[in-house]
Amino acid sequence: MDFSIRFAVFCTVLISLLAWQTLRPRRRLSNWRQRWYHNLALLLIGALCVRLVQPLLLSAIAFWGQDIGLLSHLDWPVWCLIVLSILMLDCLIYWQHRLFHRIPLLWRLHRVHHTDPELDVSSAVRFHPFEILLSLLVKATAILLLGIPVVAVLLFDILLNTAAMFNHTNARLPAKWEAVLQRVIVTPDFHRIHHSRVNSEANSNFGFFLSIWDTLFASKRWQAIGGDDALNIGLPGTKTYQPKSLRALLWMPFKLVIHKS
Ligand SMILES: [Zn+2]
Repeated sequence: MDFSIRFAVFCTVLISLLAWQTLRPRRRLSNWRQRWYHNLALLLIGALCVRLVQPLLLSAIAFWGQDIGLLSHLDWPVWCLIVLSILMLDCLIYWQHRLFHRIPLLWRLHRVHHTDPELDVSSAVRFHPFEILLSLLVKATAILLLGIPVVAVLLFDILLNTAAMFNHTNARLPAKWEAVLQRVIVTPDFHRIHHSRVNSEANSNFGFFLSIWDTLFASKRWQAIGGDDALNIGLPGTKTYQPKSLRALLWMPFKLVIHKS
């Protein structure tokens, strides 16, 4: 039941966003075949290693921790606890993402995500399996300590996957919507700045679902330095670098030196 809901939402969101980025593309994609091969291969490897057990494991931990975690001591209506849980988990993911950029050892894993030379809905699943595993451990610990309700765990998982696919989509929102929406949620234009090759731009806009954390913790950047047309996507600190093969992508965290060209 749990898996079928998640799978149905994933497929619906994927098809809708693919249709959107085909009808209203933000940029012309030139390298999509190789990128999709790399991104879907990483999705498959991640699924076999971690992603398939993740929902079941997190639900089990939430069930186990429901009497001992922080929220279990609050006598609030369920919907209040769900909203609070989603806010707390989203804030946690913001800080996790920020630390993955700040701490060199963690950056070795996260930089695989940033080597995508173009962005589209498939970029949302481009993560090294070790980063997915580490992220699972962080979420599991938080769910246990905070006493996140089981239903909130399921909702947040669906929400985070949907938000990740949405904010990587190569599509354009109407300008009026963009101006209003990016004050609250992470839009594709807002997140694209985070994928810049310029370090100062990549070290901004860390949010995944809500953009309010970037506002609150002073990491928000509304516009790219030279405007969106000048924004060069790829590994920060490099001009054209990108791994040539799936093996190179998987091996990237263990490489001592990245040739910065
Ligand atoms: Zn990042």
